[in-house]
Amino acid sequence: MRVVIVGSGLSGLIMGHCLHQAGIHDFVILERRPDPVERSGSVIGLFPQTFRILDQLDLLEGVQKLSPPLKDWIHLDPRGQTIYHGDFFALLEKNHGHPSTLAMRRELMEILYSRLPDREKRVIASKEVVGIEQDDSSVTVTCADGSAHTGDILVGCDGVRSAVRRSVMPEPPKSKAEYRGLFGSSPLPAGLAPACITETHNSGIVFMILCSQDRAFWLITNVKDKGESDSRKYSDQDIQALIVDKYQDHSVALDGNVTFGDLWRTRNVAGGGPGMYDYLEGFAERWYRQRVVLVGDAAHMMTPNLGQGGNNSIEDVASLVNQLHALLRDNPSPTTAELEGAFARYQKQREKQVKTIAGITGNYTRWTSWRNWVGWFMQFWMWPLVGDGFVVNWLLSPMIRESIKLDFVEEKRLRVGKVAWKYT
Ligand SMILES: Cc1cc2nc3c(=O)[nH]c(=O)nc-3n(C[C@H](O)[C@H](O)[C@H](O)COP(=O)(O)OP(=O)(O)OC[C@H]3O[C@@H](n4cnc5c(N)ncnc54)[C@H](O)[C@@H]3O)c2cc1C
Repeated sequence: MRVVIVGSGLSGLIMGHCLHQAGIHDFVILERRPDPVERSGSVIGLFPQTFRILDQLDLLEGVQKLSPPLKDWIHLDPRGQTIYHGDFFALLEKNHGHPSTLAMRRELMEILYSRLPDREKRVIASKEVVGIEQDDSSVTVTCADGSAHTGDILVGCDGVRSAVRRSVMPEPPKSKAEYRGLFGSSPLPAGLAPACITETHNSGIVFMILCSQDRAFWLITNVKDKGESDSRKYSDQDIQALIVDKYQDHSVALDGNVTFGDLWRTRNVAGGGPGMYDYLEGFAERWYRQRVVLVGDAAHMMTPNLGQGGNNSIEDVASLVNQLHALLRDNPSPTTAELEGAFARYQKQREKQVKTIAGITGNYTRWTSWRNWVGWFMQFWMWPLVGDGFVVNWLLSPMIRESIKLDFVEEKRLRVGKVAWKYT
């Protein structure tokens, strides 16, 4: 079977590794960027369930070396006073065996790319897919440079504004963007602890500062005004007017020891510097049509505040490749109907879980940005009362325990915590 993959982001490269493990060696990954590796200056939080799959792909050690486990998650009021100093990451590790870490995105992507066998042949950059046609025996994509690539199936790993999705469902998915986020980084200032997340909350805004050993990455979530468009583009002047001018004196650390202005003045400007984007939330109703199937952000879009989009994209890939592996074991040349059957089982396995997690992360974004008194009340009074134990033990862990791994590869470093894995 030949597989054409669109996009060499997180899902695309993981897809390559999983196919390789499944013995499906004939695949190509088409990426529109001139560089096959995403080199963004942002970070990504990786959670215990993802480490299981990375272990199966022989990538665990390399990724764990990127940064030490996350330790603390501190919530502060606008003046820098502690609302709650939780044990979120310790609880997750206790429940699921693996720690959580914060990886520099470009370092993670470099590992995924450099460890992919035959990568020079398999990952082709500067290939923007602009057209898709399929019949009962194959699917062909055309690229902006006029080249064409044909496969037995096409996997859309092309992110939030997926072109592949349009061939699965011509109508855009129902989505909304009630928040925007300003992303950037600075050298770690005195006053913010390494391996720690500090969130400072205020009405309509939350400053999340994610610290590695030497850098502070910021994710500033701001409620949009009613009536603003759902896919607004932001210029440097917009960033200045909407965030910098208004909030430069705002505390972002314990006791007000660091302000947002301190981070902004020392911001990293390499690679385009800070950027501001709308958070799209929504789902594709269909994840497949005939020989075309979607994974990751192409299928589901969620707010980034609980760091779940990428981790769930990796699980999507594992679930889809499990289905393909099982199908091809008995039937090396499946029909379109048989492929659709496998894709339907994949969507069924993932959809409910992804919707639930997107709901949790969406609510988290709403509460923690104190959009209204409910959020403020939850954060200020309820959270310290019930603790991270409620969120971890009652909301996240029941889902994490059900997470998918590859069901045809050994897990060498299986770790088991208090909450048993459903699939071992
Ligand atoms: C600031 C921020 C922080 C985040 N933090 C976390 C976190 O801590 N943990 C977490 O799990 N998730 C996090 N996420 C979400 C996570 O980044 C995404 O869910 C994940 O990147 C989805 O991977 P993907 O491969 O589906 O899409 P992408 O990573 O967007 O990759 C899509 C790829 O497709 C390529 N492409 C697009 N169109 C075409 C085309 N027509 N032809 C060819 N190539 C194309 C793109 O260039 C890109 O390389 C965060 C997101 C943001 C914005």
